[in-house]
Amino acid sequence: MAFKVIEKNILKASEDTANENREVLRHNNVFTVNIISSPGAGKTSLIERVGPVLKEEGVPFTVITGDCFTTRDAERIDVLKIPVIQINTGNACHINGQLIKAALKDVDLTKMDLLIIENVGNLVCPAQFDLGEDTKIALFSVPEGDDKPVKYPLIIKQSRLALINKMDLLEHSDFDVSFCEESIKKINPGIETLLISCKKDEGLDGFISWVKENIKIKKERNR
Ligand code: MG
Ligand code: ZN
Repeated sequence: MAFKVIEKNILKASEDTANENREVLRHNNVFTVNIISSPGAGKTSLIERVGPVLKEEGVPFTVITGDCFTTRDAERIDVLKIPVIQINTGNACHINGQLIKAALKDVDLTKMDLLIIENVGNLVCPAQFDLGEDTKIALFSVPEGDDKPVKYPLIIKQSRLALINKMDLLEHSDFDVSFCEESIKKINPGIETLLISCKKDEGLDGFISWVKENIKIKKERNR
């Protein structure tokens, strides 16, 4: 019996919206990152740490943060006087392109150089959804174990940068840094990996330089 498969159409619609977002962001020179990690790996902590530095250095940016139900992440960013939009996805375990398109209506893209999207904490499906970003960022952390890149390779394939957070906990753990870094490189040879600790404020200079360099590259490319 012939039956209709609609999954393709949904993915196509999502892809079209992502392309629209990408075009708007390109037109306005807004370098856009989509940070993906499991819950509790430190996405919000990363933004809390680097946000004030970027602000201090005069980089105009906005944060879109995704969570199923709460506004806890947005509140943490808002107290730092960083512009933030909360997306509540309800029971959905990822942000999609349509949600980003709606959020972009509330920001002045002409006054921004950078858009940071904090996805819903989940290593699986956020990797499958293009939001129109320049790149995803894969964020792992020491307590999760060193095998997460091997188990969730799609995120690595789609990211230009991988971060390994909570390096301050390394001494209490059997996390093998070389194994983790090597597995990341094996999955995506072009990726850059940075070891960081948001808690101890270590390695974050590298992240800030990476962001600023990419903002510059995007502007030069569009000139
Ligand atoms: Mg968070
Ligand atoms: Zn999902």
